[in-house]
Amino acid sequence: AKSDGRNRWARFDPERNARDMTRYTLSANLLPGLERGEFRVEYQPIVGLADSRVHGVEALVRWAHPTLGLLSPDQFIDLAEETGSIVPLGRHVLNEACARGAEWHAAHPDAGLFISVNLAVRQAHDAGLVADVTRALKDTGLPPHLLQLELTESALLGPAGRPVEAISALAEMGIRIAVDDFGTGYSNLSYLPRLPLHTLKLAGTFIDGLRNPATGADPIVSSLITLAHALGLAVTAEGVETPAQADRLRASACDTVQGWLYARPAAWDEITDLFGRALPP
Ligand code: C2E
Ligand code: CA
Ligand code: CA
Repeated sequence: AKSDGRNRWARFDPERNARDMTRYTLSANLLPGLERGEFRVEYQPIVGLADSRVHGVEALVRWAHPTLGLLSPDQFIDLAEETGSIVPLGRHVLNEACARGAEWHAAHPDAGLFISVNLAVRQAHDAGLVADVTRALKDTGLPPHLLQLELTESALLGPAGRPVEAISALAEMGIRIAVDDFGTGYSNLSYLPRLPLHTLKLAGTFIDGLRNPATGADPIVSSLITLAHALGLAVTAEGVETPAQADRLRASACDTVQGWLYARPAAWDEITDLFGRALPP
């Protein structure tokens, strides 16, 4: 039992206990599962608003768990962060994604299709990060300018808001750095010009609001896009689900979009036929 102050001992809660058991089992199975090849990577197209073509893809990990079925990252990424397994897991995703990207680039050298990979806070602070990324590029042959790394504000900035050093090293290699879920973390934007950024990814929560004019999301979204462009950064909007949202983003000069309106995340072989042609709508 746990002390909760007022009652001194919290009552045994069977539901909470089951939840903790699942979390415990999952975290104990992360590394063995990785060794058994249970983690697979899906890809979601990132589409240009001006040309309706796929410019890149974001790699999104899934866990095909032998008894619990297909698990989404929300069910295990934070566990992997807590236990440190995110480092080898993230390395696996990076290697897979770079291999796909390199294969495509070799067959379609003029396509310029980029691969975007998420980095967790723990990975950003891992001493082996630059070496891992360098090796992934070298082993697969993916040119650095076709790799984008997505980090949240809390992964880009260390203690006292100082930019994490590895980020500059990666940017100097020619890798694109994107701020993931931009606008949901720090309210202080002064870090923006101090980081070698390429892209801001506007969180789906902003794009949600575009559905309903009463939320007042329009002026926020268009101002964030203007701000990004003034800083020389590209903007990707996430979670685009309706044609109306895409229209408004296009009217605000947003560069690229990602969302169910265009394509859901899917296995690599299921999305390659979307490459190189204009997507509806
Ligand atoms: P994220 O990086 O913000 O990724 C976007 C999420 O939005 C993905 O969820 C994607 O499937 C979902 N999504 C895409 N289009 C739409 C849409 O139109 N509407 C809605 N409602 N959702 C949409 P997913 O795949 O479940 O991933 C969740 C989060 O898990 C990601 O959020 C990312 O933070 C994390 N994640 C996924 N893969 C990795 C990974 O390999 N490494 C790390 N560190 N984190 C990962
Ligand atoms: Ca992301
Ligand atoms: Ca995001």
